Amino acid sequence: MVNILFSAQPARWEEFRTYLHAAFDKAGFNYTLTTEFPPEQVDYIIYAPNGPVTDLTPYTNTKAVLSLWAGVESIVDNKTLTQPLCRMVNHGLTEGMVEWVTGHTLRHHLEMDRHIHGQSGTWLEGAPPLARERKLCVLGLGALGTACAQQLATLNFDTHGWSRREKSVTGITCHHGNTGLTEALTGADIVVLLLPDTPATTNIINADTLALLAKGAVIINPGRGPLIDDAALIKALDSGTLSHATLDVFRVEPLPPEHPFWVHPKVTVTPHIASETRPPSASEVIAENIRRGEAGEPFLHLVDREAGY
Ligand code: NDP
Repeated sequence: MVNILFSAQPARWEEFRTYLHAAFDKAGFNYTLTTEFPPEQVDYIIYAPNGPVTDLTPYTNTKAVLSLWAGVESIVDNKTLTQPLCRMVNHGLTEGMVEWVTGHTLRHHLEMDRHIHGQSGTWLEGAPPLARERKLCVLGLGALGTACAQQLATLNFDTHGWSRREKSVTGITCHHGNTGLTEALTGADIVVLLLPDTPATTNIINADTLALLAKGAVIINPGRGPLIDDAALIKALDSGTLSHATLDVFRVEPLPPEHPFWVHPKVTVTPHIASETRPPSASEVIAENIRRGEAGEPFLHLVDREAGY
């Protein structure tokens, strides 16, 4: 019998339980799934950072912690976590992110706001350039960044990507490391941030990196709030270095009502909805990881605690 503890907010339990049962039944192992267990009896924890389990010390027999979230910055440094940690990667999450990034990229590329907000009897001449004339840079070429970059490359954007380690992705000019960051950002018209929040990525968008971009560039951030130095961003928007920032994630969430981003005319705020873990596809990945754990096979999407993601 495999004992599986669901530790997330009660509303998520209601959304997930049916799909988890269906996925576990399909995977064919004997299990008990519940929101309460004596800690020492728990084999696997399905985990969200805002759930009840924060101290993992008593979970002495737990074989893995399976995060419902893709970003693991709030658990990766948890000293009580000694078990393997797997993060969420699944096709529903990826599809949602590709749709959100593509939509917001096309809004800026096609200069849609000019026509949506500018219809006051003025005949606004001038078609936008073709996508191939825009340099688009995706910082982070992981599960989400690669899928977004590949989709945008199919629309002919001059697509560049940046990762920590060297990579090769068809249709994308790949860069890595410090020099690679400068190459990727220099002259970029649209920058999409899909990096994890780690000490190495904090404030990666700052006055120096913003100065590398094409004049009037756009920043789109569905990654994490701390990737951007907010003060430098506002300064660049006010000076015209940037023409717009579309931000889905923030240092403090929900974004406080008094935050200047809410009223800045060149900032679009979306409430951390770029993508989300969807129960049907997420449940399948969780079931597969438990099946692997029970079969002694390596887990999928293991977090590198040293690298922080
Ligand atoms: P992955 O771990 O698959 O990819 C992370 C990418 O960032 C990798 O390409 C990695 O490089 C790169 N990277 C990490 N650190 C550095 C560094 N120091 N320098 C250069 N590159 C670096 O993550 P995902 O693609 O699954 O997710 C990305 C982020 O998106 C998540 O961490 C989360 O914060 C955010 N997210 C936001 C959501 C939303 O709704 N707004 C929803 C889901 C996720 P390498 O390939 O070399 O390892």
